Amino acid sequence: MTSVQKGISQKILSNIVASVKSLQDSGDIPEETLQLKFKNSRNDGNCHVLDARKSLDDSHLPTSSYRTRWTKVIPLKINIFIWRLIMDRLPSRINFALKGFDINTNICLICSVGGDLRDHTFIFCRVANTIWRRIRIWTAIPWPDSFIITEDAFDWMDSSNDPLSKKTHIYSIVAATLWWLLRFRNDMLHENGTIKERDLFVNIRLSSFAWLQARSKFAPTWTTWLCNPL
Ligand SMILES: [Zn+2]
Repeated sequence: MTSVQKGISQKILSNIVASVKSLQDSGDIPEETLQLKFKNSRNDGNCHVLDARKSLDDSHLPTSSYRTRWTKVIPLKINIFIWRLIMDRLPSRINFALKGFDINTNICLICSVGGDLRDHTFIFCRVANTIWRRIRIWTAIPWPDSFIITEDAFDWMDSSNDPLSKKTHIYSIVAATLWWLLRFRNDMLHENGTIKERDLFVNIRLSSFAWLQARSKFAPTWTTWLCNPL
């Protein structure tokens, strides 16, 4: 760690300690609730910002017991996204609220009906629902009628006895679908909707095809991909 980074980290840690002490001194909150126990990942006897942040995340954010999955078929950043998705650590409005941020609303940006949380954005929201339906028709395989939670998509893939080539194609499609649903949601938040809903399905087919072309020995031709991807 550079001296600059170390200085910034120490300043953040000092601010956290000062905030906790201020709360403790106010007497408004029982002392036992302020006894934050940070696991020391380096076993060096010091308190690190990374450990403090992880302890706060672990105590405030939902967690998943799902195993970490890592596949060479999809790009690194998509693997990281999938990992964060399964852990439910994406920055949704509800996760921000759980972390203690004061936010104006926790309503879904896309439909303004459901909550801005993982399983709504990626499964139940109107746009997600429409996209999954189109994926089912395109792939022409018996997908479950609906996934209850996002992990269900991965459970379903893991439980199949399909050959590796077919599993690879399905994984690429599922990953691309989830990725473009995230991009669509984030684009509405940050870019005011430059990604159009009508383009999502095409983008999913393009991304999943490009990933297979670049990384899989089971890469299909574009014509095959459009007509009979599995
Ligand atoms: Zn929605």
